[in-house]
Amino acid sequence: MSYKVAVIGGGAAGMMAAIAAARKGHVVTVFEKNEKLGKKILLTGNGRCNITNTTINWHNYRGTNPKFTASVLAQHSNNDTIQFFKDLGLVLVEEDRGRLFPRSNQAQSVIDVLEEELDRLEVEIFYNQKIRRIAYSEQQTDNRKTGFEIITYQNKKHHFDKVIIATGGKSYPQTGSTGDGYRFAQQLGHKIIQPFPVSVPFRIQSPVCNKLQGIKIDATVKVYHDNEKVFEVTDEVLFTHLGLSAPAILESSREVSSILSKDQNAKVICSLNLFPEYSEDQLYKLLKGRIASHPDRALGNQFTGMLPKKVIPTILKYENIDPEEKSQQTSNTTIHKIIKLVTDYRLPVAEVLGWEVAQFTAGGVDVKEIDSRTMESRIVPGLYFCGEVVDIDGQSGGFNLQWAWSSGWVAGNGC
Ligand SMILES: Cc1cc2nc3c(=O)[nH]c(=O)nc-3n(C[C@H](O)[C@H](O)[C@H](O)COP(=O)(O)OP(=O)(O)OC[C@H]3O[C@@H](n4cnc5c(N)ncnc54)[C@H](O)[C@@H]3O)c2cc1C
Repeated sequence: MSYKVAVIGGGAAGMMAAIAAARKGHVVTVFEKNEKLGKKILLTGNGRCNITNTTINWHNYRGTNPKFTASVLAQHSNNDTIQFFKDLGLVLVEEDRGRLFPRSNQAQSVIDVLEEELDRLEVEIFYNQKIRRIAYSEQQTDNRKTGFEIITYQNKKHHFDKVIIATGGKSYPQTGSTGDGYRFAQQLGHKIIQPFPVSVPFRIQSPVCNKLQGIKIDATVKVYHDNEKVFEVTDEVLFTHLGLSAPAILESSREVSSILSKDQNAKVICSLNLFPEYSEDQLYKLLKGRIASHPDRALGNQFTGMLPKKVIPTILKYENIDPEEKSQQTSNTTIHKIIKLVTDYRLPVAEVLGWEVAQFTAGGVDVKEIDSRTMESRIVPGLYFCGEVVDIDGQSGGFNLQWAWSSGWVAGNGC
């Protein structure tokens, strides 16, 4: 049976859902508030679009119930995504950690092939159409409301048999995702798990970060909440004018953001181990050895050649240890203090930066109220959700777009 299907939002999930529904023979209309489709896709992977990953399972996802993704991924896996895009003519190249990118190195290529397919399937696209409200229509069959009314900000009303909400989350609102889908879902009776920004830099209450801005190091990052370790990762850390960024911080940010979204005064500490490959004992012996070999060297320069030169003198200065002190005069107590500092340098997190710079959104429409076999609402028949509007977020590496492709496909196919 052919239905009139509306897709609200022309991002990754919405385009995929529209294609899947149109391939089933439905008459599909996409409403997009921007002047073009896929604005956020253009930003992904630094403009190159890390479209998916060669190894994916539900463990790559978070949310109140990440296992929800298993059934969705089983219906449209990463391999299905690869085949889907291959059939559309998009050639993908594998890079490190299984990440896949278009051969063209341009995210625009992903949009190009999707647009061609939407065109071939005669999907109607309304640009610059911001949806204000989604309501049940008055039409009733067997006492069940079977139709929807889509109302735009220009007060135009359109009637549809089925509606797919693909409005994204709240991150990077400049691309169009401003959280409208949560309001639509709530108005239709759905529960929203409080959204919070993920993959976002930290603002740190210490002048050290500002002094070291632009310097990148490899470090182990440990996150403490009320003195209890809640997260640990080893990767790149970047000092910025406001605090810290780069993969280790972005990876840690989900935990920090989750804590601060519940209590913005929570005590969260980010600890940096600048020498994760050494034990404290090894590092103590190493520093003693370097001091013995270069007794005239300033204390702050004893790690020169192991770290960017400015890092240790800056840290020592702000911890009241004179970096200019001749190393031969340094007491054992100070050496122990330095070892403690460089292996467990504790910086208080003032806040995570906001939605404008967050790559992903955690939280969203509660998956308890969605059927994972179809992405259909368990509350309103004929209503579907897909993509970032749902309470699922993935690790970085192509997992978020894969969620958009998989859930979009299942929603479109579920209609
Ligand atoms: C900088 C950055 C880099 C990223 N890099 C990667 C990466 O390399 N790999 C990866 O897997 N993921 C990446 N992501 C995440 C990924 O882009 C998202 O998870 C994915 O695009 C979400 O798709 P979506 O379709 O659910 O939402 P969106 O892409 O946000 O699409 C939602 C669409 O709905 C429209 N819309 C919203 N409200 C309305 C309304 N009321 N009426 C009409 N239209 C509306 C919006 O304009 C938008 O076009 C990145 C994100 C960012 C911000």
